[in-house]
Amino acid sequence: MNVFVLNCGSSSVKFQVINTDLDLFETDSDRCVAKGLIEKVGTKEAIIGLQAGDGAPFKAVEPIADHREAILRIKAWMEAPTTKIAGVHGWDDLHGIGHRVVHGAEKFTKSVRIDAEVLKQIEECADLAPLHNPANLKGIHACTEIFGDKIPQVAVFDTSFHSTMAEDVYLYAIPYDLYAKYKVRRYGFHGTSHRYVAYRYRKVVGVPKDEVNVITLHLGNGSSACAVKAGKSVNTTMGMTPLEGLIMGTRSGDIDAALVEYFAAKGLGSVTDIFNILNKKSGVLGVSGVSNDMRDIEKAASEGNHRAALALTMFANRVKKYIGAYFAEMNGCDAIIFTAGIGENGAKIRSLICANLEALGIEIDEARNAEAVRGKLM
Ligand code: ADP
Repeated sequence: MNVFVLNCGSSSVKFQVINTDLDLFETDSDRCVAKGLIEKVGTKEAIIGLQAGDGAPFKAVEPIADHREAILRIKAWMEAPTTKIAGVHGWDDLHGIGHRVVHGAEKFTKSVRIDAEVLKQIEECADLAPLHNPANLKGIHACTEIFGDKIPQVAVFDTSFHSTMAEDVYLYAIPYDLYAKYKVRRYGFHGTSHRYVAYRYRKVVGVPKDEVNVITLHLGNGSSACAVKAGKSVNTTMGMTPLEGLIMGTRSGDIDAALVEYFAAKGLGSVTDIFNILNKKSGVLGVSGVSNDMRDIEKAASEGNHRAALALTMFANRVKKYIGAYFAEMNGCDAIIFTAGIGENGAKIRSLICANLEALGIEIDEARNAEAVRGKLM
């Protein structure tokens, strides 16, 4: 079976075609038979990059008016005689569509098949994730227009893995009425990633689900940590929105909420302007002034740039802080799992994070750490 997996942003469409005949959790094989990204959707100069298997990527800059056109462009590429995708010659070889939906609020605790009622509920969740859900919905509407009900569509939520968090964990210490009235609480994100790596740990180590007690670290441009106890998420660093928790590429992570009022008083603009600073201009970019890309920051730090070195240390220390917190909360854990761009490739950062944690029984084997990069070792 081939599943068309879509991740639609406000001006981008990312996809993979996954051959599901291989069991996701039993195999190490790469089941992605095609992938691609169309950026700057809605402009005359959309950037298209599409790739079948390990073949040479197709690259182009073309006008793409909207998400529907972007998906139809992928179709045209898929069906071109020059495109060779294993087991897929056109739309008819796709059997299902999986949509990444960022926010499922309290309504969605697992993935669901999309129908009119589910669509309505996802729309209602958009209030909690105004930057994300509307874009995800564009992808769903575009697919509904293109495919009708010929192919089942499923929504997979970033939040649902964390729906097992207890009330005392997900509530903020604010008036309870605000939770009751507005559903203001910790939801957490990156759930598909945390769930996947916890499950891979289970398979690699060979333990039953209820013995999976680990801390998973998704360290990419967006970053979050998750405490997984007996195979379930019991806490995570992102909150009602992805702004909370770890220091990220451009997001501040945890700060004193009073800064917002202070910045407003200093004339830094509206609340929206201030959150724009916290979401898009902060994090390692804001501290270093160099880049949001960890590779650039590591390079600058190695060349003696003080602020870049500071950003690295602050990034690692924030992760360390949550390892300590989750270690205490879970009364210990059996593994710390690194994933996403920095987690999988950033040996130096893994080393910084794990340094001086001997008190928790954590010691890093520097030689093995240096060898471990994406796709190796496992
Ligand atoms: P996202 O999907 O959130 O955009 P990724 O998971 O692709 O992000 O991670 C992107 C981050 O991974 C960037 O900060 C990039 O610098 C970092 N990264 C990629 N390769 C390396 C590496 N070899 N060393 C350190 N960081 C790396």
